[in-house]
Amino acid sequence: MTYKKVSVENLLEWFSKHKRDLPWRKTKNPYHIWISEVMLQQTQVATVVPYYHRFLEKFPTIKALAEAPTDELMKCWEGLGYYARARNLQHAAKTLMREHGGNLPRTRESLQSLKGFGAYTSASVASLAFGEDCAAIDGNALRVFARLYAIADDIRLPATKSKIEQLATLNLLKGRAGEFNEAVMELGATVCTPKNPQCSACPLNQDCAAFQQDAVSSYPFKSAKPKIPHKEIAIGIVQREGKVLIALRPPNGLLGNLWEFPGGKKEAHETLVDCCKREIAEETGVQVVVGERIAVVKHTYTHFKITLHAFLCAYQSGEAHPKSSQEIRWVALHELSQFAFPKANQSVIKALLLRSERPIPTLFDA
Ligand code: SF4
Repeated sequence: MTYKKVSVENLLEWFSKHKRDLPWRKTKNPYHIWISEVMLQQTQVATVVPYYHRFLEKFPTIKALAEAPTDELMKCWEGLGYYARARNLQHAAKTLMREHGGNLPRTRESLQSLKGFGAYTSASVASLAFGEDCAAIDGNALRVFARLYAIADDIRLPATKSKIEQLATLNLLKGRAGEFNEAVMELGATVCTPKNPQCSACPLNQDCAAFQQDAVSSYPFKSAKPKIPHKEIAIGIVQREGKVLIALRPPNGLLGNLWEFPGGKKEAHETLVDCCKREIAEETGVQVVVGERIAVVKHTYTHFKITLHAFLCAYQSGEAHPKSSQEIRWVALHELSQFAFPKANQSVIKALLLRSERPIPTLFDA
């Protein structure tokens, strides 16, 4: 099948008039563009803006990022989620210092050899920062092109993504790829939205097959997501002499290099209280008495959901040592803010701080 080009000039003209005023659109600094592109993956623009400013203030250069203490880096990323992104950023920064004189390489192909640079990030940085003529396909671009060309194939399939990349490449204006990529993504984010797209205000509505067929709601076609498993987690805020016990997760894997309260997944045969006791003993070697439940937090990760139950626990016996974590520490409540915790644990900390304003039961005075 032969596909026709759409009116890219209309799109670029619309973009020049309607684009949002975003800080990373005012720079040509490749490092700044790279940081913004990584932060924007899976994260809303409004959430990213303050993180972007804070991050660049704290780590203004690739060198500063490469040399940043892990704790400071994770603290700066705390709350943004998908923490592997922060770890990959630093890994790539170290490679850049070692092998590229502290600069980003200028082509999509060479960028792809760096940790955390997938097809999208490599293409977006290469086109925006270095002017390479390549199409960057994110979720917005997938949706826009699936509608423009009425692509009925499942958008989750790699073959569909590759077809859409070819269509985007067909439409690229040579020498203006960065602007083109941004315009497509902006259209997807503000006009060609997943629900209720504003087709009457769209600069491409005359070219749009889905709109012309009055079938916009049929595109893109997305197969149902497989149901993700749910886990019940019990964690303990173990108290001893006015301090609580926290553990640093292993460096890699889910939530790597973040701090947390000890605990873990409930087995089918046990109660949450038994789970809490067992997990704390297994992780830290400490025996506890489990008391009041102070928080129940629901959270969804990419591949599973959790319900996290947080219990106050009194230290009973045993010497705390890291059995499955990098490090464990006893810290005062007011010191918790110095450590980077995952989102679900942050909700627990809030509940704990509120709770600590009330009298603590005798059980926990020991
Ligand atoms: Fe999207 Fe509607 Fe524009 Fe087509 S006409 S690209 S469906 S906003």
